[in-house]
Amino acid sequence: MSTMSEPVSQQPRPAGPATRRPSVGVRVGKVMVGGGAPIVVQSMTNTDTEDPASTAKQIAELARAGSEVVRITVNTPAAAAAVPRIAERLAMMGVEVPIVGDFHYNGHQLLEAEPACAEVLAKYRINPGNVGFGKKKDSQFAAIIEKAIQYGKPVRIGANWGSLDQGLVATLMDENGRRAEPWDAGVVAREALIRSALDSAARAEQLGLPRDRIILSCKVSGVQELIAVYRDLAARCDYALHLGLTEAGMGSKGITASAAALAVLLQEGIGDTIRISLTPEPGASRTQEVIVAQELLQTMGLRAFTPLVTACPGCGRTTSEFFQELAKTVQTHVRAKMPEWRVMYDGVENLTLAVMGCVVNGPGESKHANIGISLPGNGEAPSAPVFIDGEKAMTLRGERIAEEFVGILDDYVARKYATRTG
Ligand code: SF4
Repeated sequence: MSTMSEPVSQQPRPAGPATRRPSVGVRVGKVMVGGGAPIVVQSMTNTDTEDPASTAKQIAELARAGSEVVRITVNTPAAAAAVPRIAERLAMMGVEVPIVGDFHYNGHQLLEAEPACAEVLAKYRINPGNVGFGKKKDSQFAAIIEKAIQYGKPVRIGANWGSLDQGLVATLMDENGRRAEPWDAGVVAREALIRSALDSAARAEQLGLPRDRIILSCKVSGVQELIAVYRDLAARCDYALHLGLTEAGMGSKGITASAAALAVLLQEGIGDTIRISLTPEPGASRTQEVIVAQELLQTMGLRAFTPLVTACPGCGRTTSEFFQELAKTVQTHVRAKMPEWRVMYDGVENLTLAVMGCVVNGPGESKHANIGISLPGNGEAPSAPVFIDGEKAMTLRGERIAEEFVGILDDYVARKYATRTG
C-alpha cells in the first residue's frame, strides 16, 4: 500500500455549506425567517428615532441597499410616537421593509401607551437581561409578550453578553459551586446566555405566543465564543436563529471578526438571519453593514444579490492604478444599477465580472467570468482584451476603456437576462 498521500485532484470536492439546520419559520412582515427560507439580511439605524425624517431616510437607504428587515431603537415615549410617522414617510417614499422595534427596560410601557407603534412594527426585539429587574421582570416580560399576541407580532428574544440576566448568572454560579467538578467560569456565563434565551422562549410560549413567532439570538463580541454559543444553542432548540457578532468594531476589524464568526456558523447550516454590527467610520454610510452581509452570503454561495467583481490584487507586473480604478468603477456601477436591474432582469445578480491587471492571470480569470477584461501590465502592448462567456470578444484601446467596458456590460445584461414583463 502506498504511503503517498492522494493527489489533490483525486480527493473529493470541498464540501459546500452543510444542510441548513431545520428551524420553525417566522413571518416578519412580508419576509420569512427560518423554516428553510433564504437567509435574511438585517440592519439597524443609528438615527434618533424621535426624528422621523432622518430615521425614515436612513431606513430607506438601508432598504435600497438590500436590507430586508430594519431595526430601530424605540426607547422613549416620543420615539414610540414617531414610529407610525416613520412608517407613513416610508410609504410615501415607496419603501416597503419590515421595521423591528428594539425595546429595553420600558418596552411594556411604550407598547401600552402607543398602540399605533405596536401595530406598525413588524416584530418586537426584547433583551431578557434588561426587560425588567427583580420582581417586575416577569410581569414586564409578560406584558410585552401579551402585546405581541394581541397585535399578532413575532418577537426576537435577544440575549446579549453585555446585559446578561444577573439573577440567572448567580443561580448558575451557585449550581456550579455544588458540582464535583465545577465548570470554567466562561462556560457558566455561556450557559447563562443560552438559558436566558431558551427559558424566556419557553415562558413566552407558556404565555401563549406561538412557536412560529419566536426568533432567538445570543450575541457576544468574541469570535470563538460566538461560535461555541450558537453551536450549543442550535443543538438545543429549533427556533429560528438571528446571527450577529455584537460590537464587532470599526472598519476591517469589524468586517473580519464578523465574517470569521458568521462564516463558520453559516457553513455548519446555523443561522436564519444575519446582521453585521459595524461601527461606521465618522461620516460613513450606514449601508456598509448591509453590503458586508450580502457579500458574506454571496461569496459563500448561500445567496446572490449583486454581480461581484473578481479583481487581482496587483503586483510589480502592473504599476498602473488603472485596473484598481476600473474594478471600483465597475463594482460601483453595478451596485448603482441593481435597483433597476433587479426589477427588469431575472437572474442578473448571478452575473460574474473580472477586472485583471496583466496577462499572467488576466485572460484565464476573465474566461471564468461572464465578462472579463485583462488590462495591459508593464511592457505589454497597450490593449485590453475583453472576454465574454469564455471567448475573446473584442480588444479595447485608448482613453475610453472604462466607459466602453461599462457599455459592454450594460449591453450584455440587456441581452442575456430575460426582461420581466410584469
Ligand atoms: S494578474 Fe498580473 S498584475 Fe494581477 S496580480 Fe497577477 S501577475 Fe500581478
